Amino acid sequence: MKTLKRIALISLCLTVLSLPVGAGATSAAPATPVVKSAANGNGYVKVVWGKVTNASGYYVYRKTSGTSWARIATLKVNSTVSYADKTVKSGTAYRYTVRAYVGSTLSGYSSTGVVIRYLSTPMLKGVKNTASGPTVSWTKVTGASGYYVYRKTSSTAWAKVGTVKSGATVSFANTTAKDATTYSYMVRAYNGSYMSSYNATGLTIKAIMYVYYTPGGACYHLLTCPTIKKSKTITKGTVSAAKKAGKRACKDCKPPQ
Ligand SMILES: [Zn+2]
Repeated sequence: MKTLKRIALISLCLTVLSLPVGAGATSAAPATPVVKSAANGNGYVKVVWGKVTNASGYYVYRKTSGTSWARIATLKVNSTVSYADKTVKSGTAYRYTVRAYVGSTLSGYSSTGVVIRYLSTPMLKGVKNTASGPTVSWTKVTGASGYYVYRKTSSTAWAKVGTVKSGATVSFANTTAKDATTYSYMVRAYNGSYMSSYNATGLTIKAIMYVYYTPGGACYHLLTCPTIKKSKTITKGTVSAAKKAGKRACKDCKPPQ
């Protein structure tokens, strides 16, 4: 009797073991998720992966240089294919990977995953007209190696107008602005190829561009232009005022128009 029971148990085990993978509802390992991207948001890193059809959910893992993978999130819905990690510090590089699960069965995972350096969004402090043009300022971002400054008008999209190549420099003068034109400015921090998110509204100002001219001269200039540098009487005025006085833009120093 005992022997028979044992034989029956062994044959049952053999039957289970010889079942093809996928035949049992809970034993089939889900496919390894494809981790697609990681992007900086305002206060978080968003990780995106591809949906795994037979998964019941996902585990998100993170690691930094010198640490091992740590599970940071459990997503219990198969159709949730992104996660916003809000426990990030500006300037730190994070690597993320994702495993799908069905019950207690885990998928494999990409050991490369995706990597990103989190950079917080520069907080825009103000924009004002200075002698060099509209000047925008912002708060320093920890871990930034520099900043990109973008500009738009009411009828154009954001376009890069300047690169500030130091993380410690937190203002930019837009010398290429046109007088009496209304612009919006916004700033993104960068470090290598990683960029912060940005304030989509930006800060808006009507540019007043200042130029320099002499009573007798036909043109208006930048203050650095050799043409007027030695003149005794130099008038500083807006482009509009210079034009009203009958001056035109100097072709050598290319002052604002
Ligand atoms: Zn000139």
